[in-house]
Amino acid sequence: MRSDPSTGAAAVLPHDERPAHLLEVDGLSVEFQTRDGTVRVVDDVSFALREGETLAVLGESGSGKSVTSLAVLGLLPRPAGRIVSGSVRFRGTDLTALDERQLRELRGERLAMVFQDPQSALNPVMTVGDQIGEAARRRRRLSRRAARAKAIDMMRLVRIPDAERRVDDYPHQFSGGMRQRAVIAMALALDPDLVIADEPTTALDVTVQQQIMSLLRELQQSRGVGLVLISHDLGVVAGAADRVVVMYGGRVIESGPLRPVYDRPAHPYTVGLMRSVPEAEGDAPLVPIPGAPPSPADLPTGCAFHPRCPLAADRCRTEIPPLQPVGPDRLSACHYAEEVQRDGVPVQPAG
Ligand code: SF4
Repeated sequence: MRSDPSTGAAAVLPHDERPAHLLEVDGLSVEFQTRDGTVRVVDDVSFALREGETLAVLGESGSGKSVTSLAVLGLLPRPAGRIVSGSVRFRGTDLTALDERQLRELRGERLAMVFQDPQSALNPVMTVGDQIGEAARRRRRLSRRAARAKAIDMMRLVRIPDAERRVDDYPHQFSGGMRQRAVIAMALALDPDLVIADEPTTALDVTVQQQIMSLLRELQQSRGVGLVLISHDLGVVAGAADRVVVMYGGRVIESGPLRPVYDRPAHPYTVGLMRSVPEAEGDAPLVPIPGAPPSPADLPTGCAFHPRCPLAADRCRTEIPPLQPVGPDRLSACHYAEEVQRDGVPVQPAG
């Protein structure tokens, strides 16, 4: 790790020494201390994000996807949660080796997060413009007037109409979709290299969801920012992501370029996710995945998905399937990945 001698803050490698990957998560495991003991919530998770790429991390609640993103940004709730192994490299710098001050510095300048609920991400008693301009005012030492101009620019960038007037509005005067645009404007105000958006459209209706996803995609491309989209909905991220990582029970169970995974998934859970959300398969009827995701404190033996899997066989109850190659740049953790890719997965009768 290098640090800026003037500030002591973490410095990323110079341009010509930079690795091809913007973000590399390698063997990351996270544990939480609970009343019932230590629970591993993220187990040996690895993935990488290239410069200017969009990666979708998919899974139901409890899959470990949001905890992974908090761990990447050094935002795990302390002291309950901690990284117990693995590394998180951002342009070659291992974020797990940084202290709190260095992480805060990086989070302000180069890493940004868009949270799922814009209502709670915004301060109800500050104007939207002040909130968008605040980071620039503090970190770039902009005057109040310059910060206001910056806020208007950012509001225009995320297509909030009538920005000059609405800059003085309070969050409650914005619709849900406009609030999420304001939160995205805040995240982009300092020109970060990496944005992690955790379920950025969950609270919004379908039309607004699509508008926000296209906006994120467009901004990601025009500004060359790396984007990690955390979602439970493959349909929502399908038009925006280049690659996908699917998580279940705290582990990665499938990964690869989005289109091949979408066209020919290699894990029954990915198939279940696609069938359980609208738009994922055109007019096909929605089929929810039977049962509920497991608690990380009480994972099933063998393949954690076996109690819900229509293809589960005896070995699935005892042997944890390793994550193995199933095609160019693709991995799956299913004993029967080849068969799933070739023949698909039968729809389980309801009940
Ligand atoms: Fe289903 Fe077995 Fe594959 Fe797990 S390993 S997803 S239980 S077929």
